[in-house]
Amino acid sequence: DRAVSDNELNAWDRDHFFHPSTHMAQHARGETPNRIITGAEGVYITDRNGKSSLDAFAGLYCVNVGYGRTKIAEAIAEQAAQLPYYHAYVGHGSQPSITLAKMIIDRAPKGMSRVFFGLSGSDANETNIKLVWYINNVLGRPDKKKIISRWRGYHGSGLMSGSLTGLAAFHNLFDLPKPPILHTEAPYYFRREDRSQSEEQFADHCAAKLEELILAEGPDTIAAFIGEPVLGTGGIVPPPRTYWEKIQAVLSKYDILLIADEVITGFGRLGSMFGSDHYGIKPDLITIAKGLTSAYAPLSGVIVSEKVWRILEKGSDEFGPIGHGWTYSSHPLCAAAGVANLELVDELDLVANAGSVGAYFKQALTDALGAHNHVGEIRGEGLMAAVELVKDRDDRIFFDASEKVGPRVVAAMLENGVIGRAMPQGDIMGFAPPLCLTREEADIVVSAAAKAVKSVL
Ligand code: PLP
Repeated sequence: DRAVSDNELNAWDRDHFFHPSTHMAQHARGETPNRIITGAEGVYITDRNGKSSLDAFAGLYCVNVGYGRTKIAEAIAEQAAQLPYYHAYVGHGSQPSITLAKMIIDRAPKGMSRVFFGLSGSDANETNIKLVWYINNVLGRPDKKKIISRWRGYHGSGLMSGSLTGLAAFHNLFDLPKPPILHTEAPYYFRREDRSQSEEQFADHCAAKLEELILAEGPDTIAAFIGEPVLGTGGIVPPPRTYWEKIQAVLSKYDILLIADEVITGFGRLGSMFGSDHYGIKPDLITIAKGLTSAYAPLSGVIVSEKVWRILEKGSDEFGPIGHGWTYSSHPLCAAAGVANLELVDELDLVANAGSVGAYFKQALTDALGAHNHVGEIRGEGLMAAVELVKDRDDRIFFDASEKVGPRVVAAMLENGVIGRAMPQGDIMGFAPPLCLTREEADIVVSAAAKAVKSVL
């Protein structure tokens, strides 16, 4: 493809390619980088100009096994040659999709029973909402339909999944339908209003807020609660101690289903196979995507518990086949990628690596930046970490988003050869590297991050 000149490719990009989550006018005017990535190996990506960068965000928290895994590439190629596609409607299947379903259930938290496949985290959450409504119709509870999400939660950008998302940028100007979706307090200890609260007291407070909302709306109207075990795009925020057990106690009290959105945390990122195992969460439904195939092919899923499955069976017996599915549900190429990917996660012991290198990485970040005047908090779990930048750490004065501190620091880090992500709030450097990260690579990330913070602030 070198036959195309850089100028030509850049012009095609600006003139014809409508990028996701991009400032469209700036891009068309050539003011945003149009970095064209041509290859990748291990934890490094390379662009068309031959510049390589250490990808400490694994694409979008998804290339968990790292780049250049020929085992997955070969599995996809072999499957394409043998059977590129057949649908899964009315009981059809392919060997990789059935094998992958079995592998997922073998790894999933106890009590999970079946997997429905989609293509993206967003569509899997659309599936979740439909299933929750279907379930309560089958159970004869037509009024129990509202879903509670959390401010700062990220659950996708579809019509319904975008409404679950508790970040303004994903709602503004889109006239999303006003579905029965409510938002409750984010478990964001560092930003709590009452500074005197301990983590446990703040968890009590979050659970009390949830209960207050349920009681105000009427428990008989609330169907489900959805949350990421660790808030991701909302700021990479691990929950305060005892949060999940307290939230679950409230949900059980009012017979409310729990959806764990494990799109980021599923398949090892926290150092446990699932975030639910990590925090003792007992979900009724689990959303999976990203790490399921390490993004070598698009694939997502909803894992349902045995309890939910029994209700779905009852529904089919009473009302016939479930009217839900996509042409590409359990696409054989994606499923083949998933099987090879999960095998690699085991072979390379990546779940344990995420736990041990993750702990090392967080400590190294703390050693390098913990005492810096503009570092308010360094937090993380497994291989998800964040450095929150503040204007004044003693008086806890936050930067204004317009100061673009996060984007500036992350841009400086890229100059130092490392990719991180400025989280949407604007003052957080986010890290979610491939789970195969070594300690030496973690050191490279930390030194680039420290240099960037010190050069900008
Ligand atoms: N849920 C969570 C927790 C996510 O982090 C994301 C994406 O980042 C999604 C859902 C949406 O996934 P997708 O972008 O594949 O639609």
